[in-house]
Amino acid sequence: MGAKHVGRQDPVPGECRGACDDSLWCGEGRVVEEFVMEQPIPPYLFAFAVGELGFREVGPRTKIYSEAVPGVLDAAAKEFSGTEEMIKVGEGLFGPYEWERFDLLVLPPSFPYGGMENPRMVFLAPTVIKGDLTGAQVVAHELAHSWTGNLITNKTNDHFWLNEGITTYAERRIVEAVQGKERAALNIGIGWKLLVEDMERFKDNMEFTKLKTNQQGVDPDDVYSRVPYEKGFQFLWRIERQAKNHIDLKVWTEGTGIPPDAMEPASDIYAEIVSLANEFKVGRMPNEDEVADWGGQEWELYLENLPKSVEASQVLALDARHRLSEKKDYEVKVAFLQLAIASRCSNYYSEVEKTLKEVGRMQYLRPLYKALVQGTGKEEEKTFAKRVFSEACLLSPYSSGRR
Ligand SMILES: [Zn+2]
Repeated sequence: MGAKHVGRQDPVPGECRGACDDSLWCGEGRVVEEFVMEQPIPPYLFAFAVGELGFREVGPRTKIYSEAVPGVLDAAAKEFSGTEEMIKVGEGLFGPYEWERFDLLVLPPSFPYGGMENPRMVFLAPTVIKGDLTGAQVVAHELAHSWTGNLITNKTNDHFWLNEGITTYAERRIVEAVQGKERAALNIGIGWKLLVEDMERFKDNMEFTKLKTNQQGVDPDDVYSRVPYEKGFQFLWRIERQAKNHIDLKVWTEGTGIPPDAMEPASDIYAEIVSLANEFKVGRMPNEDEVADWGGQEWELYLENLPKSVEASQVLALDARHRLSEKKDYEVKVAFLQLAIASRCSNYYSEVEKTLKEVGRMQYLRPLYKALVQGTGKEEEKTFAKRVFSEACLLSPYSSGRR
């Protein structure tokens, strides 16, 4: 449970202190529900969810909640069965877990984030349940916020990297302890590629490649990126490597771009995947044996390292061999569909449409829409994107928002 439910009363005139009219507050059928939570939190960590929820207990501090839809709870309970072990690892690294409960709530697919670190009850998108170890990595991230972000937090959004950079570092320390160094290296490698992409995205507005930014008059959603996460992680990782050597703090926190002493991870699997991706450029695709034990993260890393666009025939050949368009893992599927769109391989546009209407996670929607509308001579794709967007808005419970 999040906050504790302590009572239900009839509303009393005046008690809402001007938040709305008494006629509304005390209207017919209204009741006042009272909740109490011992630990103080800042307003951005306040959230509530309403629904017909079921739950499974997976540890002494953890229940998993979701709408009582068959299959979802079982899959979630399986995916997150290692949560207590992660909490213990976190305590070993960062000190006692101060929030008493660490419950998880799996939301409907339209939830716009992968996870949100609401204290005592983390919110998760259902796409996080993939049947492999990567779902646990999102939980590791949200769990890490129990120390960095939730116990101590940034004063304003200009310092957002203090929350996310340190948490991404803490997440990977947990992943390293629970899943091993190679897994953590893949996770770092995927992050590195995203960071390099964000540098390209902000090349005309380098302010947002800084850790400490000036967001005066800027909508934080418009400049949301992996920079606070991945450059922030790189900064902490740099300190871990060589705390005794000189580190130019000003370059790291106030400078633009990627500092010269940031680095890609060194790992055999990572290097092998990147080199296989480079071979694609000269027309070689990995064979069945080479990908036999690849999970979602290996594929994600491979696809991220391919050229931005290739021949449509190469996209078809890649999919014929490895069935990437049919992957249940959205990280892989979306990376493949991005490649298909950029390569103007229209065979996959119906799959693109289905995905855009099915999920609400911004991490999937943004790159797909961007791939559709970016570049010249793509009138057909732009019309397609507009149609799908307006139809998807009608489907989504979150459609009354600004965007
Ligand atoms: Zn975070």
